[in-house]
Amino acid sequence: MVVKMNVGGVYTLLAGMCITSCGLVKKETVQFARNTSHNFKFGAHVAAAGGISNAILNALRIGANSFAFFLKSPRKWDAPQYPDAEVAKFKALCAEHKYDPMTDILPHGQYMINLGNPEPEKEAKSYESFVDELKRCEQLGVGMYNFHPGSSVGSDHKESLVRLAKNINNAIAETSFVKLVIENMAGQGSIIGATLEDIRDVIEMVDNKERVGVCIDTCHSYAAGFDITTEEKLAEFLQSFDDLIGAKYLCAIHLNDSKAPCGGNRDLHQSLGQGFIGLELFRLIANSKRLEGIPIVLETPMDKDDSVWGEEIKLLESLIGKQKDDAEFVERTAHFSKLGQKEREEHMKKFSKKQEVKAKRGAKTDIISQLTKKRK
Ligand SMILES: [Zn+2]
Ligand SMILES: [Zn+2]
Repeated sequence: MVVKMNVGGVYTLLAGMCITSCGLVKKETVQFARNTSHNFKFGAHVAAAGGISNAILNALRIGANSFAFFLKSPRKWDAPQYPDAEVAKFKALCAEHKYDPMTDILPHGQYMINLGNPEPEKEAKSYESFVDELKRCEQLGVGMYNFHPGSSVGSDHKESLVRLAKNINNAIAETSFVKLVIENMAGQGSIIGATLEDIRDVIEMVDNKERVGVCIDTCHSYAAGFDITTEEKLAEFLQSFDDLIGAKYLCAIHLNDSKAPCGGNRDLHQSLGQGFIGLELFRLIANSKRLEGIPIVLETPMDKDDSVWGEEIKLLESLIGKQKDDAEFVERTAHFSKLGQKEREEHMKKFSKKQEVKAKRGAKTDIISQLTKKRK
């Protein structure tokens, strides 16, 4: 196989092979045909290495109806601007393959961006990169941009929310149409957005509410303590979302199972059905009318071969219209559960140990507080 790189930095391919983000070689042919006979926009966070237009081809190859990608390296502040030819190619491929950039594409913001950072220099650096990413979306005609709400880094939490909202307002004023989609978080330490109240408070402070939305990550929700494993519990969670934030703000879903137990605050994505959440949630999602038409994006583990996402999209499509007691569904639930059993047991052990330490620490502080009370 021969591979060469052209002047625009875009990998060209020979002998029908192409290069992905990790330098993997793949067959160029479509492996999973897109299914647009239903209204769900199941997709995945695909690679955009070698040129952002490759994201479209990678999405197409796995049969995705929506997709996410990084606008620039998620771990490096600076990135060259897109060559004009690449922007044109991106738009042309979207049109050719019928991806509407306004509704079907949800780029993911850089991980380092923290608009709630209490240190002014770091806040400014984050803001600069944030606006740059929003402008890249608008350059591509992309209508939504997903980002992590950041962290208070141990400082006053409320003040951080105010800072985040101020930066969102400023960024909206500097751009013209892209919607800023806040992702809910798994909730470690000073992380913003592990509670629905955090997101409600930030949106309340946003002036132009047409330009703000929310992406629910199923793994993050579960890790943050929302049990969403049954129909009743999912309904309860979505009701809380509607009551606190408002149904109209729900713009997208990140679809992941969780390697760690509920309330463990660990952001560990797992393949659908293999984690603690289980296949039932994904069946419920594939039958939820309100989730039709919005990007439902897989960020499940991928080891060198992104056809796992093609298979998961086909799995999700097979769940449309399936009843809970359907024999095939019951069989598949057991199959995927078994595949993840060992990992779940390992994480359960870690979780229990942590809980024990916490309980001991809690008991100690309790004794100390009782003693100090007695002394008083
Ligand atoms: Zn994310
Ligand atoms: Zn995550």
